[in-house]
Amino acid sequence: MIPTRALFLLLLVAACKTNPYTGRKQLLAMSEKREIELGQEAWKAELRKAQVEYDVELIAPLRRVGKAIAHEAATGRREQAQREGQEPIPYDWTFVLIRDRQINAWALPGGKIAFYTGIYPVLQDEAGMAIVMGHEVMHAMLRHGAERMSQKGTQVGGVILAGIAAPATIAAMIAFGLGTKYGVLMPYSRKQETEADEHGLMLAARAGYDPEAALAVWQRMAAISSSKTPAFLSTHPDTLKRIENMKKLMPRAKALYEQSRKQPNSMLPIPG
Ligand SMILES: [Zn+2]
Repeated sequence: MIPTRALFLLLLVAACKTNPYTGRKQLLAMSEKREIELGQEAWKAELRKAQVEYDVELIAPLRRVGKAIAHEAATGRREQAQREGQEPIPYDWTFVLIRDRQINAWALPGGKIAFYTGIYPVLQDEAGMAIVMGHEVMHAMLRHGAERMSQKGTQVGGVILAGIAAPATIAAMIAFGLGTKYGVLMPYSRKQETEADEHGLMLAARAGYDPEAALAVWQRMAAISSSKTPAFLSTHPDTLKRIENMKKLMPRAKALYEQSRKQPNSMLPIPG
């Protein structure tokens, strides 16, 4: 008898869909609902092994900036969906601080965002945090995880065949850029990074954060990377090119910031 089920699993039902934010055609082999489920699984698995920080003073700015950016993102997402006559699947935005010296931050589908205490000194203030927050939030909003999984189905499949448990979760983690522990690093593509930079910058500006902070953050990141490579940069290469790109986008971002309701900008506390 033919194992029908297995055959179905092998079939990649891919669909090309135009992304409403970027106008770019994306290959998406899964529904948004499924993508969010995988994001949730990967999130639980990742947090199980992380040391979550509960210090109120440290997490307050992360929650504040996260809320402001996510609110702006949700507004844009709702408007986009309504223009297409759809109801968007709501994201359950969650912001967690991980006690770890790594200079790192990442996002999972459905709005799960993690920052590491190690990135605080590089971000310096809430405007700096808003830049990286905008970038991460856009990775989730632009469905980069699902796109990565769709493009790299075979590589991910190889890891699954290598006999690692909970294949869907592992595959998702790799696709979402968390797979280093399994010997496979799958950073987002340059195109996806540029998109997250651009749309994230505009998002931060619209939410009321000074976009100029982006230049300072990436310059500090570049300064550190000349001595050692921060984890964030191993998946986010080409810092100098990035700064150049940010400069080009600055007039448009500035104009959005001028019209925005400005957010307070406090210095971030220094993690002990
Ligand atoms: Zn990124």
